[in-house]
Amino acid sequence: MRYVRFGALAVGFLCLTACTRTMENASSVTDLAEVSVFAMDTYMYLTAYGSAAETALAQAETRIAELENKWSVTLETSEIYAINHSKGTPVSVSDETSSLLRFSLDMSEQTDGALDCTLYPVLSAWGFTTGSYQIPSETLLAQRFAQTGYEKVQCNGSTVTLPEGMQIDLGAVAKGYVGDLLAEQLRAQHVTSALLDLGGNIQAVGTKPDGSAWRIGLRNPFSEETFAVLEVADLAVVTSGGYERYFVGEDGETYWHILDPETGQPARSGLASVTIVGQEGRRCDALSTALFVMGREKAEALWRQAGDFEMVLVTDTGEVFLTEGLEDVFSLQQDYADMPTEIIRR
Ligand code: ADP
Ligand code: MG
Repeated sequence: MRYVRFGALAVGFLCLTACTRTMENASSVTDLAEVSVFAMDTYMYLTAYGSAAETALAQAETRIAELENKWSVTLETSEIYAINHSKGTPVSVSDETSSLLRFSLDMSEQTDGALDCTLYPVLSAWGFTTGSYQIPSETLLAQRFAQTGYEKVQCNGSTVTLPEGMQIDLGAVAKGYVGDLLAEQLRAQHVTSALLDLGGNIQAVGTKPDGSAWRIGLRNPFSEETFAVLEVADLAVVTSGGYERYFVGEDGETYWHILDPETGQPARSGLASVTIVGQEGRRCDALSTALFVMGREKAEALWRQAGDFEMVLVTDTGEVFLTEGLEDVFSLQQDYADMPTEIIRR
């Protein structure tokens, strides 16, 4: 019961594998380049315009593979694998890995522990790491739960020390960080118009070639449809939702892949999806996961306090709450015109 996870998606993407060839033909006319790759357990679609686009996207693809090789939990040669199998001994990692880990730990502090990169043993008890889903017994859950806690992870310079039995997984922030690194690389290569869709993590570089904003579709968490569109330039748009990966247990309940680090159970905060808009993909990614766990009230409080991001919350009951900074760039799709929508003000 796994699926393609489109939280936010670029409106207008119609093709998967057939794109590249079609676009190659088109590229000589429009300088459009497009690449689709499967990496980090998701489909990624990269689109860029301009004379530098084709070379830049080829290099972006290489970069994605490099980062996946560092951060994969399952690949035996990855740095995360080395940390997870270190049996408590210090491990030396690359700057990128230590920086991502430090960032994740910092975001855990900022979100009162709602984000926690040490949940892997619990996620695997639920089968979210393999797709063999099950409701874990209380004994198993308690045993796995004891092996978590981001405060126990030490990251000093390039050295990481993880207590024996614990395992980390940076999946909740990695794609956001990849988006930041790719956008930086593209800009350095003089690409001024690109849209990176990293499995629902959208990173926009500049505007569309004609100078207009990118139109990013937000998925209705209760169906496969786009319920609203955000118009953005040079920003990241990241969505987390329970619908992305879930199973229905023998008890008829739905269990999804975002866990509450306080209980080890799927987070039930009254939200069905959280979309974060901001400058940094990694921050948006961390916040989308954390605010899904925290729920609307705490999310609003953090929004007021932080001041550097905007958000769209969809509740379990299908209400939409969006922060005032998005008021002018958010629009409901025609079929959703009467969806109850409220603006959150400062
Ligand atoms: P996705 O990567 O599925 O698009 P997220 O960025 O929200 O969405 O990350 C969810 C992933 O992070 C889960 O699949 C799981 O591996 C892990 N995870 C689940 N709950 C948490 C949590 N509270 N903190 C950190 N990581 C989590
Ligand atoms: Mg996330």
